[in-house]
Amino acid sequence: MILAESIPARDEGSRMSAVNVVEEKRPCPQCGSVVPWRVQFSYGNVWAYEYRVGDRLNWGCDFPDKPYAHRLDVGRPGTQQVVVLGTAEGCPICGYGVEELLDYEVWVEDDRITKVQPSTGRYHVTEDEYVILR
Ligand SMILES: [Zn+2]
Repeated sequence: MILAESIPARDEGSRMSAVNVVEEKRPCPQCGSVVPWRVQFSYGNVWAYEYRVGDRLNWGCDFPDKPYAHRLDVGRPGTQQVVVLGTAEGCPICGYGVEELLDYEVWVEDDRITKVQPSTGRYHVTEDEYVILR
Protein backbone atom coordinates (compact mmCIF):
# COMPACT_ATOMS: atom_id res chain seq x y z
CA MET A 1 0.00 0.00 0.00
CA ILE A 2 1.48 3.28 -0.99
CA LEU A 3 -1.10 6.02 -0.93
CA ALA A 4 -4.57 5.44 0.37
CA GLU A 5 -6.00 8.88 0.80
CA SER A 6 -9.75 8.72 0.87
CA ILE A 7 -10.48 12.09 -0.69
CA PRO A 8 -7.61 13.87 -2.40
CA ALA A 9 -8.21 17.57 -2.00
CA ARG A 10 -6.83 20.47 -3.91
CA ASP A 11 -5.42 23.12 -1.67
CA GLU A 12 -5.36 26.03 -4.11
CA GLY A 13 -8.76 27.40 -3.26
CA SER A 14 -10.25 25.63 -6.23
CA ARG A 15 -14.00 25.38 -6.58
CA MET A 16 -13.70 21.61 -6.37
CA SER A 17 -13.60 19.97 -3.00
CA ALA A 18 -12.62 16.63 -4.46
CA VAL A 19 -10.86 15.48 -7.59
CA ASN A 20 -10.63 12.22 -9.44
CA VAL A 21 -7.36 10.39 -9.78
CA VAL A 22 -5.98 8.25 -12.56
CA GLU A 23 -3.10 6.01 -11.58
CA GLU A 24 -0.58 4.40 -13.87
CA LYS A 25 2.70 2.67 -13.07
CA ARG A 26 5.49 4.61 -14.70
CA PRO A 27 9.08 5.59 -14.03
CA CYS A 28 9.62 8.75 -12.02
CA PRO A 29 11.24 11.36 -14.28
CA GLN A 30 13.79 12.13 -11.56
CA CYS A 31 14.79 8.91 -9.78
CA GLY A 32 13.57 6.38 -12.33
CA SER A 33 11.71 4.27 -9.77
CA VAL A 34 8.64 2.65 -11.29
CA VAL A 35 5.90 3.93 -9.04
CA PRO A 36 2.11 4.27 -9.08
CA TRP A 37 2.02 7.68 -10.73
CA ARG A 38 -1.14 9.48 -9.68
CA VAL A 39 -2.65 12.36 -11.62
CA GLN A 40 -5.53 14.40 -10.22
CA PHE A 41 -8.08 15.73 -12.66
CA SER A 42 -11.58 17.17 -12.70
CA TYR A 43 -13.67 15.71 -15.47
CA GLY A 44 -16.73 13.49 -15.50
CA ASN A 45 -18.45 13.05 -12.20
CA VAL A 46 -16.02 14.55 -9.74
CA TRP A 47 -16.03 12.55 -6.56
CA ALA A 48 -12.60 11.16 -5.70
CA TYR A 49 -12.91 8.27 -8.11
CA GLU A 50 -9.81 6.17 -8.65
CA TYR A 51 -9.23 5.21 -12.26
CA ARG A 52 -6.75 3.29 -14.34
CA VAL A 53 -5.95 4.01 -17.98
CA GLY A 54 -8.65 2.29 -20.02
CA ASP A 55 -11.37 2.83 -17.44
CA ARG A 56 -14.70 4.39 -18.29
CA LEU A 57 -15.56 7.62 -16.49
CA ASN A 58 -18.56 7.87 -14.21
CA TRP A 59 -21.16 10.54 -14.86
CA GLY A 60 -23.94 11.79 -12.62
CA CYS A 61 -26.44 10.22 -14.97
CA ASP A 62 -25.10 6.84 -13.84
CA PHE A 63 -26.65 7.56 -10.44
CA PRO A 64 -30.32 8.41 -11.11
CA ASP A 65 -31.20 7.76 -7.48
CA LYS A 66 -28.87 10.54 -6.36
CA PRO A 67 -30.12 13.87 -7.74
CA TYR A 68 -27.11 15.78 -6.43
CA ALA A 69 -24.75 13.64 -8.50
CA HIS A 70 -25.48 15.68 -11.65
CA ARG A 71 -24.19 18.82 -10.03
CA LEU A 72 -20.79 17.21 -9.69
CA ASP A 73 -20.43 16.67 -13.42
CA VAL A 74 -17.69 18.53 -15.28
CA GLY A 75 -17.66 18.34 -19.06
CA ARG A 76 -20.00 16.62 -21.48
CA PRO A 77 -20.71 12.88 -21.46
CA GLY A 78 -19.95 11.10 -24.72
CA THR A 79 -17.53 13.65 -26.12
CA GLN A 80 -15.27 12.07 -28.70
CA GLN A 81 -11.93 13.45 -27.62
CA VAL A 82 -11.03 15.65 -24.68
CA VAL A 83 -7.76 16.69 -23.10
CA VAL A 84 -8.09 17.31 -19.39
CA LEU A 85 -5.34 19.16 -17.60
CA GLY A 86 -4.41 17.55 -14.34
CA THR A 87 -1.68 17.59 -11.76
CA ALA A 88 0.61 14.76 -10.72
CA GLU A 89 0.85 13.99 -7.02
CA GLY A 90 4.54 13.31 -7.34
CA CYS A 91 6.95 10.48 -6.60
CA PRO A 92 6.47 8.65 -3.30
CA ILE A 93 10.12 7.53 -3.39
CA CYS A 94 12.15 10.69 -4.02
CA GLY A 95 9.51 13.37 -3.56
CA TYR A 96 9.82 14.78 -7.08
CA GLY A 97 6.69 16.75 -7.93
CA VAL A 98 5.29 16.68 -4.43
CA GLU A 99 6.01 20.35 -3.70
CA GLU A 100 6.00 21.81 -7.21
CA LEU A 101 3.01 21.19 -9.46
CA LEU A 102 3.60 18.89 -12.42
CA ASP A 103 1.07 19.48 -15.16
CA TYR A 104 -0.26 16.40 -16.90
CA GLU A 105 -2.69 15.72 -19.69
CA VAL A 106 -5.39 13.13 -19.22
CA TRP A 107 -6.81 12.09 -22.59
CA VAL A 108 -10.42 10.98 -22.63
CA GLU A 109 -11.99 9.42 -25.71
CA ASP A 110 -15.64 8.39 -25.74
CA ASP A 111 -15.61 8.61 -21.92
CA ARG A 112 -12.63 6.32 -21.52
CA ILE A 113 -9.24 7.39 -20.24
CA THR A 114 -6.88 6.50 -23.06
CA LYS A 115 -3.63 8.18 -22.11
CA VAL A 116 -1.84 10.08 -19.36
CA GLN A 117 1.24 12.10 -20.22
CA PRO A 118 3.24 15.11 -19.06
CA SER A 119 1.81 18.36 -20.37
CA THR A 120 2.89 19.10 -23.91
CA GLY A 121 2.07 22.77 -23.41
CA ARG A 122 -0.15 22.66 -26.48
CA TYR A 123 -3.39 23.01 -24.62
CA HIS A 124 -4.28 26.01 -22.56
CA VAL A 125 -7.28 26.24 -20.37
CA THR A 126 -8.88 29.18 -18.69
CA GLU A 127 -11.73 28.53 -16.35
CA ASP A 128 -12.44 24.98 -17.37
CA GLU A 129 -9.70 22.46 -16.98
CA TYR A 130 -10.36 20.65 -20.21
CA VAL A 131 -10.23 21.21 -23.96
CA ILE A 132 -12.67 19.49 -26.29
CA LEU A 133 -10.87 18.47 -29.46
CA ARG A 134 -13.76 16.86 -31.28
ZN1 LIG B 1 11.25 9.66 -7.88
